[in-house]
Amino acid sequence: MKIQTKLIVGFLIMTAFPLFLTSITVSFVLDRLSNDWHDVYNIEKDVTGPFDIIMNPINFFYEASNEDYDELVDITVNDPDSLLHFPTCKKLNDKMKKHQAYLLVLKEKKYIYTGYSPQDMEPRSIPVADIYHRKAKDLVYLDNKTNSIIRERTFYFSDHHTLGQIMMVTDYSKLNVAWNKTILQFLAALIIMMFMCDIALGIWIYQSIVKPINLLQIATIQIGDGNLDIPVTPTSKDEIGELCKDFDNMRLRLKELIDDNIRREENIRAIISNISHDLKTPITAIQGYTEGILDGVADTEEKRIRYLQTIYAKANDMTYLIDELSLYSKMEQNSLPYDFISVNAEQFFSDCIEDVSLDLEAKNIHIFYENKTDKQTCLLIDPEQIKRVLNNLIENACKYMGKPCGEIHIRLFDESSEPEMLHVSVTDTGAGIPKEHLPHIFERFYRADSSRNSAIRGSGLGLAIVKGIINDHGGTITADSKVGLGSCFTFTLKKTK
Ligand code: ADP
Repeated sequence: MKIQTKLIVGFLIMTAFPLFLTSITVSFVLDRLSNDWHDVYNIEKDVTGPFDIIMNPINFFYEASNEDYDELVDITVNDPDSLLHFPTCKKLNDKMKKHQAYLLVLKEKKYIYTGYSPQDMEPRSIPVADIYHRKAKDLVYLDNKTNSIIRERTFYFSDHHTLGQIMMVTDYSKLNVAWNKTILQFLAALIIMMFMCDIALGIWIYQSIVKPINLLQIATIQIGDGNLDIPVTPTSKDEIGELCKDFDNMRLRLKELIDDNIRREENIRAIISNISHDLKTPITAIQGYTEGILDGVADTEEKRIRYLQTIYAKANDMTYLIDELSLYSKMEQNSLPYDFISVNAEQFFSDCIEDVSLDLEAKNIHIFYENKTDKQTCLLIDPEQIKRVLNNLIENACKYMGKPCGEIHIRLFDESSEPEMLHVSVTDTGAGIPKEHLPHIFERFYRADSSRNSAIRGSGLGLAIVKGIINDHGGTITADSKVGLGSCFTFTLKKTK
């Protein structure tokens, strides 16, 4: 989740969630209050609306007192004189008590019955003419002094001129106390809910924002101390997760660069040690043979000539080694100049083979050439460098033939999987390369043990140079070999129109 979305969600948690919880709490508290008050006033729940006690308390008490008041009205109409008798009034009053109400009866504005402790509650004065006109007059009003709701009826006793009044007084003072208590409960619940929401939001923000930032900070310190091995794992899919991912990529890239540098330094060390070793051998030989001549060990003309021939051969070896080295170092530094031109493959390879065939014949090695591709196929190559590649492979085939006569087959062919490349294979019937050496022969300074220990001249750089040149041409080179049967080197070159 994006941080922006998280903030929106956080805002919703802080508003919608408390609102939702508040509404649940409010409805729960109101329901409880309503239930309590229905119990206190001993009223059936369906007589008033579910929240009338809170929303419309006057209506609540009006509806709640209806049953008792209707009975009183009935008496004032049918048998008003019964209200002059104490037992009737007491019976009515006892019934009302259950609903937190009591009865007051007045005759000619004087109390003749008070259902509760003596009241100095003055009934409202009603114009007598009005009562005559309507037979009876009903009033409902609130009395703030006693916190009561009063339903009052003025009527005439059976003699039609004695004025009577009944008052049904319902006490609502307890409601105020309950209301205050409810508001306090409600505020406490609201504060608890807000507190809980804050904690939940705080934990969420800490887990998704602060924690990953802390991890990132630890990783930064580690990298500053040079420790690049501790990965930074993204814990979320938001911007911070992306930052962790980018940070980890940067760590890996940095590690790669440092490892590359270490590898390069090791390479340089290895190259220096190889060069010094490979140059030391002919130099030591030259030193030995020169001392032999100077000290008079070579005491005959024939011996001296042999010594000088060896010195010459060793000097040639050194020149060959130095040439190979300078070529390899140029290639490593990408400073080998290539001159790419389009050449006809058939013509180029047949010319190359013609150039070496006389030499090979002298060495008793037969060379065969076969072109299975279209004779018009052209290649975009540096002819001098590709000739160097072919000559090097042919030279190796001769060097490692291991018998007095042999064969070399050069084939040009196409592969359906790579129609844009020309495949060239150089196969010999030589000694072959042992399986364990095969994966390493393209490494610089690598020579199979048998070659290293033999008198065959070599630097171990030939195939590394060949591979470098082919790669620079956008091609690949592979080797396959069977000991005793021979080796096959196949390289590819890009065709051009
Ligand atoms: P070198 O200067 O030793 O010839 P190369 O890089 O040309 O170095 O070859 C590396 C090693 O691969 C050689 O030392 C040799 O052991 C092996 N090798 C290369 N070509 C052949 C081949 N045609 N037959 C057998 N072994 C070969």
